[in-house]
Amino acid sequence: MEDIRKKLTEYGKKIVEKGLVAGPGGNISAREGDFVFLSPSGFFLDEINEEEWVKVNIKTGEIYSNLRPTCEISMHLGIYIERPDVKAVFHTHPPITVGLISSGVKFKPFFPDYVAILGKEVPIIDYVQPAGEEIRKAVVKEIKKTNVILLKNHGVVVVGETIKEAYTRSLIVEEAAKSIFVGICCGKLRYFTKKEIEQIENLESEDYRKALLKKQ
Ligand SMILES: [Zn+2]
Repeated sequence: MEDIRKKLTEYGKKIVEKGLVAGPGGNISAREGDFVFLSPSGFFLDEINEEEWVKVNIKTGEIYSNLRPTCEISMHLGIYIERPDVKAVFHTHPPITVGLISSGVKFKPFFPDYVAILGKEVPIIDYVQPAGEEIRKAVVKEIKKTNVILLKNHGVVVVGETIKEAYTRSLIVEEAAKSIFVGICCGKLRYFTKKEIEQIENLESEDYRKALLKKQ
């Protein structure tokens, strides 16, 4: 099996390349057994070497590194404890998404990949203080029933059964934001009807694509 630290390094670069974070913003992690590998605090996500991911015991919080883990460690550990199915947590600061949700714009399904990859309901939570118990509590409460959470005046938290699935969700959130922005600038954006959402949910071809994301 491919080393997850190698994969995290690879996807850290992709996140920055796609403009989902800037500077030392955002943090990502992946689970391996009883441990999690977290991005080190203060590092740009595209400048983390394989050996620099900070290994932490999920249950005890013990840190096996000279580097300090991301300041959002508590939120990451809280998610892994709450959701045993989750193998990766990505927290990004995508600029268009953050601008839209902080202005009160709604996120609702309006194209097929939105439904298939993000789900039919994406919660938006009010601003909470980052880097500690307040954000952990708010995110863990929501993550029980969703894979994507939008944080007003802050960013996005997504989870995945694989690193690739978490990355794909992060990417599609910002793609949706771009389309919403263009849509509302040009006129009245038409969102999917309940029936249209159900049709996508029942597509066999979507099941196949989703299964593929979970294998990588
Ligand atoms: Zn953040």
